[in-house]
Amino acid sequence: MTKIIYPGQTIGIIGGGQLGRMMAMAAKEAGFKIAVLEPTMDSPGGQVADIRIVAAYDDEAALEELAEISDVITYEFENIDYEGLKRLTEIAYVPQGAELVRITQDRVTEKAAIVEAGCPVAPYVVAANYKELVASINKVGFPCIVKTARGGYDGKGQQLLKCADDLPLAEELFTHSVCIAEGFVPFMKEISVIVQRNGQGETCCLPVGENIHVHHILHETIVPARITDITAEAAAKAAAKIADYLNLVGTLAIEMFVLENGEIIINELAPRPHNSGHYSIEACNISQFTQHIRAVCGWPLRQPKLWAKSIMVNVLGQHVMPLTNSISKYPDWSIHLYGKAEAKVNRKMGHVTIMTDDIEKTLQQINESSIWSL
Ligand code: AMP
Repeated sequence: MTKIIYPGQTIGIIGGGQLGRMMAMAAKEAGFKIAVLEPTMDSPGGQVADIRIVAAYDDEAALEELAEISDVITYEFENIDYEGLKRLTEIAYVPQGAELVRITQDRVTEKAAIVEAGCPVAPYVVAANYKELVASINKVGFPCIVKTARGGYDGKGQQLLKCADDLPLAEELFTHSVCIAEGFVPFMKEISVIVQRNGQGETCCLPVGENIHVHHILHETIVPARITDITAEAAAKAAAKIADYLNLVGTLAIEMFVLENGEIIINELAPRPHNSGHYSIEACNISQFTQHIRAVCGWPLRQPKLWAKSIMVNVLGQHVMPLTNSISKYPDWSIHLYGKAEAKVNRKMGHVTIMTDDIEKTLQQINESSIWSL
């Protein structure tokens, strides 16, 4: 049953990364208290929490403690222990449930759910081992991408196979998990839709973002995506369909490919706020984090509106110094840094959002800043 959670009550968040931090900051604006469960001591989420539980995500005693002090529990990332989350649903109020995490933790169940929801995916086969891959690869053909079913992110756990001679390159992936092989999609653009839904069934989508990846890591999100209205509508419609099919409560980020003819193919799902939705903090009348908190607290959702076109640029470890040295030059840039101590190469340290009247000019300004050329 959907409960309404009120300011002054405590929201427990599993995970203390930047998504947990931005969720916590949004919740604190409305007067909620925040408890964060996170194994590291000085985490981005822990820094802004009222209560910190420093323990592994599957630590039973820690989960019980979180259940005891929280009026509602949410999570900021999908690789939490499913069994632990399921147990938590029995002893605490977890409106998102555990099913969504189970489905999206595994590409096999995730793809099946997208198909069952009636949305298109790239042709794919499931292979339990290398022999099965070799036997079934002709169903998808070449080029194709082999992906571990579990545990991959930012392009890790993936292997592009251009032709049959490349097949042995994928063998190692099977030491990690079952794999899927999917046909290579000759996409024109990558987009994402963040769909949010509350327990009462109200569903909202943020404006579609266009994602530019560099070395498999999200570099920029351009909003609105430079696609036709028809494609944008199809993307939002597909997102709402998947959200309804999954009985979503909370947030689901849906990554999609756009083909040359404007059609969309669903790539993958993330059951949480997403890097490509950070622009909404400044550029929309509601951020993905505030909407997420509203959804899990049983509050009515607000129909998102874009105040201005915007570009979000990720700040990785190697970008922090050049960015901080340039702060004085860019008064219009909203700078977010997540409070991570060590600026390791390719580690997501923050992001910058720039609202603009002219996307192309701002893309050029970003390039000319030289901050992201390192
Ligand atoms: P994923 O981890 O599934 O999001 O994949 C990471 C990136 O690899 C995507 O953002 C795409 O740029 C690329 N990619 C993944 N799957 C495919 C595919 N079937 N065809 C073409 N590119 C893909």
